[in-house]
Order: sequence, then C-alpha cells, then structure tokens
Amino acid sequence: MGASPLAPAWLALPTDLNRLEAKVWAHDVERSAGGELTVGGLGVAQLAEEFGTPLFVLSEDDFRARARAFKDAFDGAFADVCGGVDVYYAGKAFLCSAIASWVADEGLRLDTCSGGELAVAAKAGIPGELLGLHGNNKSDAEIERALDMGVGRIVVDSLDELERVAALAAARAARDPERRETRAKVMLRLTPGVHAHTHEFIATAHEDQKFGLSMAPGTASSEFRAEVAEESGQEAALAASSAEEAVAAAAGHDSVELLGLHCHIGSQIFEPEGFELAAVKLLTFTAAMRSAYDVALPEVDLGGGYGIAYTPVDTPRPPAEIAEAMAAVVRSTCADLKITPPRISIEPGRAIVGPSAFTLYRAGTAKEVVVDLPGPGEESAGTTAVRRYLSVDGGMSDNARPVLYDADYSVALASRASDAAPQLTRVVGKHCESGDIVVRDAYLPSDAARGDLLAVPGTGAYCWALSSNYNYLGRPGVVAVRHGSARWIVRGETEQDLLSRDMGV
Ligand SMILES: *Cc1c(COP(=O)(O)O)cnc(C)c1O
Repeated sequence: MGASPLAPAWLALPTDLNRLEAKVWAHDVERSAGGELTVGGLGVAQLAEEFGTPLFVLSEDDFRARARAFKDAFDGAFADVCGGVDVYYAGKAFLCSAIASWVADEGLRLDTCSGGELAVAAKAGIPGELLGLHGNNKSDAEIERALDMGVGRIVVDSLDELERVAALAAARAARDPERRETRAKVMLRLTPGVHAHTHEFIATAHEDQKFGLSMAPGTASSEFRAEVAEESGQEAALAASSAEEAVAAAAGHDSVELLGLHCHIGSQIFEPEGFELAAVKLLTFTAAMRSAYDVALPEVDLGGGYGIAYTPVDTPRPPAEIAEAMAAVVRSTCADLKITPPRISIEPGRAIVGPSAFTLYRAGTAKEVVVDLPGPGEESAGTTAVRRYLSVDGGMSDNARPVLYDADYSVALASRASDAAPQLTRVVGKHCESGDIVVRDAYLPSDAARGDLLAVPGTGAYCWALSSNYNYLGRPGVVAVRHGSARWIVRGETEQDLLSRDMGV
C-alpha cells in the first residue's frame, strides 16, 4: 500500500510507522524494545489495565520541564530589560489542584478565569498574590472572591467592570478600615488590533470581538471626549480611545491600584512578529498615558498563544527564540520612547501542558469504505479509493477540538509495534454524530484492530478542559506518570457520577 489519494497534501507517507515523531510527544514517551509505548518507563497496557480507557496520560516531568523552560527562557532574555518575566500558566488549558501546585513549584504563577478556577487554586493552596483573574463577564461574586483571596491581578475587561471592581473594593475598605491593603490590583485588557495564528498575523484598526478595551482612536465615550476637549483640545478629544478612558478612570479611583496593561492576540502562534507588534502598541500607549495623565503603568502582559506541534508538519519555535525576539523589541521600543521598560509577563497554556499528555484509547470497530475521487470538474473522476475507519472508545466528549476547530492530530498504535503496511485511517469516536472525529487523517498499520491501544499525542490542552458527558459517557480521568509510577490527578467519572445530579422521577 502506498500513499493514499485521499490523504491531505501535508500528510507524508511514513517510512517507519513504529518510529515516534519526537516533537508531538512528551519527552519521556518511548517505544520499548518489545514494541509497546511507554511513558516514564510505564507501559500503556499496564496503564489501560489499571486505569481503564479512554485515559489522559500526563507526564509530570514533561509538564514541569516545559514550565521551567518558559520561565528560564523568558527570564534569560529579559534579564537586562526588566529583571525577568512573570510567567502565568493559563489554567483554562488544563487545571486541577496537582497541576496548580506543580506550576507554583516551578516558579510560575497561575491565570484563572472563573470562580471555579479560583476554587481549584485555593484547594491547591496557591497564595492569592500569585493568581490572575480574567474574564469578560466576571460576576460580582467572582470579583469579591478574588478580593477575598488577595488575587495579584484582576484583568479588567471593560469600563463597566472597572467601575464594579472599584466599587466593590471601596465597599470592602469601608467595611474594614483596619485592613492595610484593600485596593484592587488591576490590569486593563486592551485590544491592540493584532490577531495572530500560526504563521500569520493581521493588524486591524478596529476590533470586532467581545474581549477588551479598544485602543482605536475615537472609541471613548462622548462624556470622556468632552472632558478631554476641555482639558487638552479638540484634537486630543477626537483621538481618545476606550483604553485611554479606562486608564484615566482607574487612576481616579482610590480603591484601585492600576498595575498596567494586558493583551492576548491569538492562539497556536509559531512566529514572534505578532507579539512584537502588540508589544510596540502597548509600550507606545504606556508612554502616551504617562505624558497625558502622569500615570505610571509598571507592568505589561503580552498574553499567551504559543503554538505546539500536533502533527509532524507543525514547526513551533523554542521558547528562547521567541523570548529573544520579543525582548529585543521591548528593549529598543522603550529606548526610543525613553521609558523605563515595564515588568513583562506572559500567559502560556497550551505550550506547557499540550505536549505533556496523550489520550489512550482502545480500538473497536473497523470498516473500510470506498470513496469516489473528485475529478477536475464537478463530476467524479470515475476512480475510487478506500478509506479505513477505526473507532475508539471515546471521541468528541474527550476531544472536542476536531469538531470545534477542525484540529488535526497524530496517532500511534500504542500496545505493540507492527510491520504491516501503512493505511490511511480515520480514527473516529463512539458518539452518535458523524462529525465525531478524533484524528481525521493518519497512516496507521493496516493490521491495527479491535483490542489494540491507540495513543493520540498533544491532548494535554483544551481536551479534558472541554470534555463533556455527551451521550452519557463519563469524562475520562487524568493520570500523572512520574519516576515509573502513575496516580490519578483527576479520577474518571463513574456511572454513579453521571447519575448523581439526576433528581429522579
Ligand atoms: C487562552 C488564553 C491564554 C492561553 O492561551 P494558550 O494558547 O493556551 O497559550 C492566555 N491568556 C488569555 C487571556 C487567554 O484567554
């Protein structure tokens, strides 16, 4: 069997199906001499036996190494710019209390975006000052909780929210005048008009999205523009943005400590240019706010979005390369603007946890279908090809990304090696939905069959976090492997869990 005419152009016919493509796997995943996939020295058959399938298998060493790699790379690159970088792990990618504690152990901080994520951080005992709270629609209860926990930064997303945070913090100060620090620590999330994804970025003047305060001229409220016109003239009033209005408002609130500015420009980004452009915009704005309002903005957060390899054709750069490029731009821009470089922070999620885990599935039903090949025109070419479908015991309930984002993944036969010829295979789930695809296009050995274990790498981020109980499947658990032993960090759901909220007849 050679290359399939049904294979997408990017998918190469592998010369050795048993070889693991290092960049899509955790560093301690290997194929043993006997052919079985192992992680941290543990074989997948034993993991499947002990913990069941589907199962998220997370390498603790790999996670910690990637967390440290980000911290070290950015600290190194920015040492002479701002004395290092605060790295916030974006908990939304995958969070449980074990992960939160590893993040803190490795010297990182933690970003949350809901009361529930704050609860996980509290359960892990993470000190409030190491936490950030995001969200475009935080409830008063979430803001109160953040203030109770002494969260290090509330990333404020709108003028409306700024007023609510200020009022809630002022009310606390009034209730408890003895408290030394009652001010809410606030970053303002701005939309710099930079959208980045993988190899491209686009720059726009205006933003059409739910997040953040616009930096585009003329977006401030008419009340604010009238104030600016009175103070600084018509030209300044016409240029005033929502972002500027928020800076002025925050500086006017005694109950708010304005730490700085934040942006987040996209996801699965491979190249540094988008981050560089966003940095220039935020730094330029920082300088403008200092001269217009004499407001100091000592911190700038450049968000997350660092890409990973899901398939062999993905080529993310090492964190150090991106960090050096960003540091060079921050250094030169601050010199040009004659401002002291702010303390930089970043928020990687996917790039830390994504490659650390794979999903282990048990294969079930297989079938082959004959597919008409498209001709040059509308009609079929009159030729056909075979596509193999191999079903596994999970699917869109444990990995929604193929359905949500057309995401591509890789897959390996995990329970054994095979000398069978490669066959183009579509790995599908067991849900009642024809779009329930796990790996759209991959070459697997043609003898991969019912009972075999399959491993899908790169599922650490946004898979468990987005999992559901569709079709009343229990959400899989997550096992952490380290030094040859494995333990649940989140157990899988049982049938009892599934029925526990059903109030009965
Ligand atoms: C999602 C998100 C991140 C993390 O993005 P990754 O692509 O996982 O690195 C960081 N910051 C904010 C504000 C986000 O919304």
